[in-house]
Amino acid sequence: MELFVKPTYSFIVPIYNEENNIPELYKRLQSVMEQLEGQTELILVNDGSTDASLRLLRELYQRDNRVCYLSLARNFGHQIAVTAGLNYARGEAVVILDADLQDPPELIPEMVKKWREGYQVVYAQRTRRHEEKKRKRWTAYWFYRMLRYLADVEIPTDTGDFCLMDRCVVDLLNQMPERDRYIRGLRAWIGFEQTAILYERSPRFSGEVKYTFAKSLSLAINGIVSFSKVPLRLSTYLGLGAAAIALFMALLVFYWRIVAPTAPLTGFATILIAIFFLGAVQLVSIGILGEYIGRIYEQVKGRPLYTLAEIRGWEKGDRPRDG
Ligand code: UDP
Ligand code: MG
Repeated sequence: MELFVKPTYSFIVPIYNEENNIPELYKRLQSVMEQLEGQTELILVNDGSTDASLRLLRELYQRDNRVCYLSLARNFGHQIAVTAGLNYARGEAVVILDADLQDPPELIPEMVKKWREGYQVVYAQRTRRHEEKKRKRWTAYWFYRMLRYLADVEIPTDTGDFCLMDRCVVDLLNQMPERDRYIRGLRAWIGFEQTAILYERSPRFSGEVKYTFAKSLSLAINGIVSFSKVPLRLSTYLGLGAAAIALFMALLVFYWRIVAPTAPLTGFATILIAIFFLGAVQLVSIGILGEYIGRIYEQVKGRPLYTLAEIRGWEKGDRPRDG
């Protein structure tokens, strides 16, 4: 009987309706795996796809003993799918990449080289985006800069989840009970020796973007709320600002009364504006508070992050691998 050899590398790919990308992805990953010295396990995580993706994963699993797959019981979202993969990865170096080939697999050997040089985290940083609409490029550009300004830890700009992480970093990530998993932020928070490799992000190989505007916005808010308390302070500042304006107005009215006691004090519009302004300040503050409290609520419920419907490649004793 062949013995199970722990793989050196784990590649994690989250998959949500990517049937047209899987064959090409597999082909390109295959040639990368052949270049690398040491065993690789390819962990494909089906995030509740409704197309033929899962069937393709099953086929690959039958065909190639380096392939393992997890199938989440429904769509849990990209970050959770990656988290599931990280939980099950056994490699010494773990690579995360998208299924749509926007993260070119051909960069992996370069990442591995850096890892061998002693870096624990090698993340890919985009120098240009050839893909997507202008709006996305623009919002992403400003979002990453704002996040860098707001966050307590230095989160590198223009980096996504495409990266290689050492076992020790993955173990630490897996220990974090945090529900809102903004992986690129948690990865930066952990520390160790980190380095970037630069690349130009190409368009999707096939299919539609799975991150809708709403999903991207929610990921962005997650990034800020999980890594910064500045928004909370913002409401304090807004409140102080409003108080200062009110005091100034009160003194002004008082002064006016003294110098011109007979002048009629009309100010219907002013009063309306003041009411709306204060109402807005209060609602925004409550909203910000709500973002944080909602996260506490989610955390306290302590539900598992995902549910698994199917898991292949981790059966007892694990599958034999040729070593
Ligand atoms: N994805 C996922 N679950 C989702 C949405 C996306 O697993 O709910 C996967 C998707 O299949 C792809 C990766 O996450 O492999 C990135 O998605 P996409 O290309 O749509 O986003 P973007 O390129 O804008 O980051
Ligand atoms: Mg993509």
